[in-house]
Amino acid sequence: MHRVYLDHNATTPVHPAVLAVMLPFLGGEFGNPSSIHSFGQHARGAVERAREAVAALVGARSSEIVFTSGGTESDNAAIFGIVENDRRASRHIITTAFEHHAVLHACAAMERRGVEVTYAPVSRDGVVDPEEIRRALRPETILISVMHANNELGTLQPIAEIARVAAEAGVPLHTDAVQSAGKVPIDVSHLGVDLLSLSGHKFGAPQGVGALFIRKGRNIEPLLHGGGSERGRRAGTENVAGIVGLGQAAEQVLAHMSESAARIAALRDRLEQCLLERVPQSRVNGDPARRTPNTSNMMFPGVDSESLVIALDLLGLACSAGAACSSGAVDASHVLRAIGLLSSEARASVRFSLGHTTTERDIAQALELIPATVARQRELVASEVSIPR
Ligand code: PLP
Repeated sequence: MHRVYLDHNATTPVHPAVLAVMLPFLGGEFGNPSSIHSFGQHARGAVERAREAVAALVGARSSEIVFTSGGTESDNAAIFGIVENDRRASRHIITTAFEHHAVLHACAAMERRGVEVTYAPVSRDGVVDPEEIRRALRPETILISVMHANNELGTLQPIAEIARVAAEAGVPLHTDAVQSAGKVPIDVSHLGVDLLSLSGHKFGAPQGVGALFIRKGRNIEPLLHGGGSERGRRAGTENVAGIVGLGQAAEQVLAHMSESAARIAALRDRLEQCLLERVPQSRVNGDPARRTPNTSNMMFPGVDSESLVIALDLLGLACSAGAACSSGAVDASHVLRAIGLLSSEARASVRFSLGHTTTERDIAQALELIPATVARQRELVASEVSIPR
């Protein structure tokens, strides 16, 4: 069976060129970058080259990049780091209702420490209005955190406009760019952000490595304390192989960004258009014009997204549901609820996310499988509804 993977927003396969540069660092090149001997210095050189590549991906200076264990750590380090660095008696954060849990739960942890948090609303098309951020500002606001691209919808947020609001108020701005880094051009100066999170496994590097951009002059309290790695900003011996992989992935996506985005967007648009034609009542969730090139979130009224994802998986197609199973109960996605979908609509929504391995053949196969599977699921639901109890 030809298996089709349309869940690149969850994680991407490691690119073969990334694996190739990593392997020596899992073998003979095992030095600790903090050691002064040649083993250590070799590792140090590799880490610093990777830092330059990651900095280039987001238009930063290499001294502004701190390596982390991924998007979750970067988000936590940004939020915790700003809060802990500001000891005012009353502190307030502005974020949005449809952030990833790495931001939402970090903010909830800050609430438990007495920090107030405003969760700004999101429009029906999955975009945050900068005026909502302005309205939420208070004299005691110490941080604004708004994601660059939403992970479920792919919608891109007006970060540069939000940065103008933040700058006028003198408040630092963090953006979670985990779903945009490597997919769309990013320039931290153009975006006007003080802090930016990214994660390697979303663009061809392995899981467990990421980075936080911290603008020069912006002091934040480290999340991890210990040895002086990352110039005292993140303790712990570096994940050298992972960092080398992240650097290689950053170089690759930067070198091929426009062709790759055009190729992937064309495949995504074909998938979406054909599904809209072939699946009655189907709809696209979120603004179809302002989103990452690889993501499509579609609603198929009358199906249960979890059952659809499982049925498609049995047929060899991996995608993801607009619902998450937490402790045995299926919750409608907080993102889809935040943009105003009914719980029943969120539970009928599925995310298709493409990537560097997606081919024409994958899309042709997806178009064979999805309409027929949706039709079968709808028949099943209809027959269950008509069974007298
Ligand atoms: N932020 C966003 C928007 C994400 O999509 C993810 C992962 O899905 C994360 C943060 C967490 O990243 P990581 O898996 O590297 O911890």
